[in-house]
Amino acid sequence: MTTFPPSINPAEGERLTEVVKDWAAANGLVVRPPPAVVSAEADPQGILATPVPVTLFPSPFPKVCFDQGVSVQQAYNELYAAISQDEEFLAQTVKEIGDSDDFITELWKVHLRVKAEGYVQHKSLGLFRSDYMVHQDTPDSSPSIKQVEFNTIASSFGGLSAQTCLLHRYLASTEYPLLENEIPLGKLDLPRNASVAGLAGGIRQAFIEYGAPTTSHPKCVIFLVQGGERNIFDQKHLEFELQKSEQPQVPVFRLPYAEILQHTRIADGAGRELLYTPPKYPGRTFEVAVIYMRSGYGPGDYPDQSAWEARYHLERSAAIKCPSVLTQVAGTKKVQQVLATPETPSNPSILTKFLATGATSTTKLAATFTNIYPLDGSEAGLKARQIAQDPELCKKYVLKPQREGGGNNIYRSAIPEFLKTIPEAHYTSYILMELITPPPVTNTILRNGKLEHGGVICELGIYGTCLWDGQSGKVLHNEQAGYLLRTKGDKSEEGGVAAGFGCMDSCSLV
Ligand code: ADP
Ligand code: MG
Ligand code: MG
Repeated sequence: MTTFPPSINPAEGERLTEVVKDWAAANGLVVRPPPAVVSAEADPQGILATPVPVTLFPSPFPKVCFDQGVSVQQAYNELYAAISQDEEFLAQTVKEIGDSDDFITELWKVHLRVKAEGYVQHKSLGLFRSDYMVHQDTPDSSPSIKQVEFNTIASSFGGLSAQTCLLHRYLASTEYPLLENEIPLGKLDLPRNASVAGLAGGIRQAFIEYGAPTTSHPKCVIFLVQGGERNIFDQKHLEFELQKSEQPQVPVFRLPYAEILQHTRIADGAGRELLYTPPKYPGRTFEVAVIYMRSGYGPGDYPDQSAWEARYHLERSAAIKCPSVLTQVAGTKKVQQVLATPETPSNPSILTKFLATGATSTTKLAATFTNIYPLDGSEAGLKARQIAQDPELCKKYVLKPQREGGGNNIYRSAIPEFLKTIPEAHYTSYILMELITPPPVTNTILRNGKLEHGGVICELGIYGTCLWDGQSGKVLHNEQAGYLLRTKGDKSEEGGVAAGFGCMDSCSLV
């Protein structure tokens, strides 16, 4: 076999473009078009869809690294289920972040208010995604994965990533064997990806575990979304998968975050069931069993106090939240930094506190950590401040606030300048992380009908679903749920697919 991905000539590029754009439309590998591509005037009803940016070939990815990510996912699920139940630990984390972070402060207040009146729902669902990049000390040493971050809210692209794997499998059996630099049939090791079935399966499990409705209304699941979401089809794949199941039949509704208080209410009585009257089906009311949040992860969804009231309203209800406020806080970069703090003889790893499964998982998880430092007054924190303020040393680092959704980090040489713009008292709300620099890979990205060829950086995400009962402390469901490969040009710091820098990809294991 020639090198992979093979080089292609312009005619082959055109041919692949044609095939990919049609396959994408036919199989829902699409997004709503960006305003720069189709103006609101050109699509006043918002009916158009366009192929999501995607690589023409699956990127080569070390099999040992892929297997490593898959093999630690259930331990990660267990870890974050345990952290979510450790209110004291999370309270300490929030305190360390400090009240300069309004968003985390407000989020924590929601928890405190519900705690004061008592939670009525103790079951909690996590649809997690642990993100990694390949790390190799020297070109001859064995590669391993290092964790970029762990997502506990609105972990996206599980719908589109399963389709991307299918696209690349399709091309491997139809188009790659016909290239001049042909890739014979069966030559590629393309892992199957059950992300749609896995993530929908987690939601279905929570729907079942909610139990029988206690009001006279049937149960439903709500997908809590952002208004004007462009990545809607990613969510639709999960929605359709859930609705495929007949036993139980799962009614699913999409509710924009801004409309929570308008269309839902808490039932009278002590049970605090969440009742939803879908505006499109007046006269029908459902008891909400599961709230799956694809919004609410950042300040943008909370423009005013009523948005915080809406979050409180959901949190105090009997619906199973995916995620609860505690689980959302567990997903902060600050928690990741605390977990990654190396163990010393006087300070045993915090992981042992959370993992019942013992030393093997602890070692396997710790192997995925890279260096992350606080910017506080501790010894490590003061050292990190020095690095962050040094024009040379800072070039190997990224500075992260407690935010989600991309576009929030400060990279390399921009760090010292940025720190000068904020009061020193706010430094504690950031963490400083060593940059992971994966070995070079090249690929061709098809974006808005145009091909971009060059060096790329790949980020592997492994999905996990976990359902636990905080009252008994029992984990009721814990599964690894497929994967995502996201790829960006190697000149870009951030790889957000929706933000227009990254693209969808899949793994060709090597
Ligand atoms: P978010 O929660 O906003 O997605 P991330 O921590 O995932 O925040 O950072 C966004 C992007 O920045 C990542 O997808 C990755 O491309 C890049 N990035 C973040 N941390 C690192 C790191 N330690 N090394 C290399 N790239 C990183
Ligand atoms: Mg994130
Ligand atoms: Mg991320």
